[in-house]
Amino acid sequence: MTAKEIRESFKKFFESKEHLIVPSAPMVVKDDPTLMFTNAGMNQFKDIILGNATPKCRRQADTQKCLRVSGKHNDLEEVGHDTYHHTMFEMLGNWSFGDYFKKEAISWAWEYIVDVLKIDPADLYATVFEGSPEEGLARDDEAASIWEQFLPKDHIINGNKHDNFWEMGDTGPCGPCSELHVDSRPAEEKAKIPGRELVNKDHPQVIEIWNLVFMQFNRKADGSLEGLPAKVIDTGMGFERLVRTLQGKTSNYDTDVFQPLIKAMADMAGCKYGDDEKKDVALRVIVDHLRAIAFAIADGQLPSNAKAGYVIRRILRRAVRYGYTFLGQKEAFIYKLVPTLVAEMGEAFPELPAQQKLIMKVMQEEESSFLRTLENGIKLLQGVIDDTKAAGKTEIAGDKAFTLFDTFGFPLDLTELICREQGMTVDEKGFDACMQEQKNRARNAAEVKLGDWVVIKEAESEFVGYDYTEYPCHIVKYREVKQKKGTAYEMILDQTPFYGEMGGEVGDSGVLVSENEEIQVLDTKKENGVAIHIVNKIPAQPEAEFMACVDVDRRHAIESNHTCTHLIDEALREVLGEHVEQKGSLVTADYLRFDFSHFEKVTPEQIRQVEHIVNDRIRQNIPLQEFRDTPIEEAKQLGAIALFGEKYGDKVRVVKFGSSVEFCGGCHAKATGQIGMVRIISESSVAAGVRRIEAITGAAVEKLMDDAQDLQNDIRALFNNTPNLLDTISKAISENKELQAQVEEFKSQKAAQLKEAIISKAQDINGTKVISGVLPIDPQNAKDIAFQLRAQFPERLLVAIGCAAGGKPTLTVAFSDDLVKEGKHAGQIVREAGKLIQGGGGGQPHFATAGGKNADGLKSAVDKVIELSQL
Ligand code: ATP
Ligand code: MG
Repeated sequence: MTAKEIRESFKKFFESKEHLIVPSAPMVVKDDPTLMFTNAGMNQFKDIILGNATPKCRRQADTQKCLRVSGKHNDLEEVGHDTYHHTMFEMLGNWSFGDYFKKEAISWAWEYIVDVLKIDPADLYATVFEGSPEEGLARDDEAASIWEQFLPKDHIINGNKHDNFWEMGDTGPCGPCSELHVDSRPAEEKAKIPGRELVNKDHPQVIEIWNLVFMQFNRKADGSLEGLPAKVIDTGMGFERLVRTLQGKTSNYDTDVFQPLIKAMADMAGCKYGDDEKKDVALRVIVDHLRAIAFAIADGQLPSNAKAGYVIRRILRRAVRYGYTFLGQKEAFIYKLVPTLVAEMGEAFPELPAQQKLIMKVMQEEESSFLRTLENGIKLLQGVIDDTKAAGKTEIAGDKAFTLFDTFGFPLDLTELICREQGMTVDEKGFDACMQEQKNRARNAAEVKLGDWVVIKEAESEFVGYDYTEYPCHIVKYREVKQKKGTAYEMILDQTPFYGEMGGEVGDSGVLVSENEEIQVLDTKKENGVAIHIVNKIPAQPEAEFMACVDVDRRHAIESNHTCTHLIDEALREVLGEHVEQKGSLVTADYLRFDFSHFEKVTPEQIRQVEHIVNDRIRQNIPLQEFRDTPIEEAKQLGAIALFGEKYGDKVRVVKFGSSVEFCGGCHAKATGQIGMVRIISESSVAAGVRRIEAITGAAVEKLMDDAQDLQNDIRALFNNTPNLLDTISKAISENKELQAQVEEFKSQKAAQLKEAIISKAQDINGTKVISGVLPIDPQNAKDIAFQLRAQFPERLLVAIGCAAGGKPTLTVAFSDDLVKEGKHAGQIVREAGKLIQGGGGGQPHFATAGGKNADGLKSAVDKVIELSQL
């Protein structure tokens, strides 16, 4: 079977077991503060598992794009070096939300693997949770006895808490799990060592393929466990590992998932996979990382300097470095593999072909800019490694690793990798300390301690904020959030008009008022589908009825900016072309920011055009048409464009202002007139192929115009309220230029006169002509005069001029060349004499100057020069 056929067979099998087949959620996670990337199939069902949402079907199955490069699951270091861990991989999964449990989960897994896919049962091993006395948990005999219907007892292995007890996090749903392992060693090896001894021992041919998680507990903040009311089945099977098993290969990279990519890369590098282990590792790393990067960009995550964007940048740089060091790639190369990737995976993941151009452009640019510094960085690091070795040490200093990070963009793991290749390590603590110092870069999440939820009322939370900004409500539950900067509380309400931050729109703030008290709502966040109100205190009577009141002025400004974002989006497509696609958006009360795909700078004329179109639509006062709970197919017929990287349910909300139609869950103006006016205040580049504009609306535009008007009036007042400001100013500028030229002319004339005057007063001291004096000129003139005199009197000459133009005294000294030959040194003399003007200076033997602070000392300084010259 080909990879594509295997993917389909999984879906078909679970469809036959009445599962709803759902699409993969985006790999980039947007509304869960604990997670940057989807790292398991269950992520997209978290709100269902937590009881915040009702599943549309209690049985579901899918293939999910996962990325394991940060946080709880980080397989980055294994990738390429072993043959069965990837950064990005597909996880096939089936779910039961309060429906079937262990019996069906295990027997269906068996049926699929053995009856459908015909994997030899003799090669299969199952693990079960052995129990944990300190948790008061017994062995999972239930799962074991089900496995016993299929497997001999010596193929069922007890596993510890680490491998066989799954937890969502420090708190929340958890439970035992059972893994299915496959032994694909040759028969003679199997005869020597039984497979059961190699399960979970990192043997490359005895690997885990499927994990069946039985969520039956909830872990509380104090660590204790309670029963979960609606039990959940969550299974995850590594697609690439399954394909490899079925295709009889010993490495995931030997399957048709990776071979076309490896071949393309090997061709580009002029080598052959399998000839040289170092090159093979590089080839594996590159094709693995390519998938991760391409899918992340397709899901809207561009490489950047922080958070999820930095993770992607790190992966890309890691791949570039492997190509550079082991495959001789000196110019951007990974992006050239994208067409092959699209050909292989584009059918199952349409986001890839749709954005191929953008993906390639972004990658090429990232690769090139990193390659520009890579060479220097590697040289620097090699120097550090050599020095460290010479000093008899094996650990690179942390600050050196930090310099590489900060100046050359070497992620720590890259530095560590290069070091490891030479038997060295890096002082991570020292690196972290440097990182900490550079605070603006280090954005380490403030440590938070979450208390248990205190439940006041059993109820679901409903958002009423599209229709109301004030609404009566009750508190459902609250908890304490302890942070370094103080304690706040999170609160969930049964009905709330407060919009929780999501989809780029900031959350509402306001107050909760009861008969006796008032509570500030500082912010509202949306987490796993529920609006969480951040409040300053817990009410004395939490059961009381409250009036929830949104800060209406702020909300209106947010609405205006959000509606305006839609109008700008549409106008950009009209002005620049249909390729414009939203790549990011931020809507606050003060301004809006909109990122979109476009391959060159937007010209000032185009910006104007966009503004005019949008302002026109604002003046038309187009009313909001809102379609809630619309089936997604109907929504598409309305003309709404689905964005890649967004997770849509079956029912969506569509927001329409005339010809602008968008999927949107945000808050909007009742009609476009509310916006007042728009002004785009900046246009810039975010990444290759992605532009950013920032704009303001309504009162903010009014303020901008007031400020501009005031400034103009002030300027006009300076010019006697001239009616034609522009002409007056340009006339003033050219007059000024003319005057400047005249002044320069006068200055040099004056200098010439002064020169004649001091020549006429020249002294003769023992045969040397001494021309000196304190003159009202600037230092440049003094220098000019000194050199002119040197030319005019080439023999036995000393020039000593003091000047104090602009209040800054300067002493200028020059000797003729014959006196220099006799040993006179203007630089030394000026340094000494300069003390009399409280200054210092120096220069060459034939010419030197000193600047000082005390103009009163100039005369005596000039005399001192003559004295020190010992003529
Ligand atoms: P392992 O111990 O092999 O790292 P795991 O215990 O981390 O696996 P789970 O978190 O249970 O794996 O994930 C479910 C399944 O996903 C695994 O059985 C495996 O088939 C697959 N899988 C996990 N991590 C990776 C990875 N980095 N690359 C490819 N497949 C993976
Ligand atoms: Mg793992």
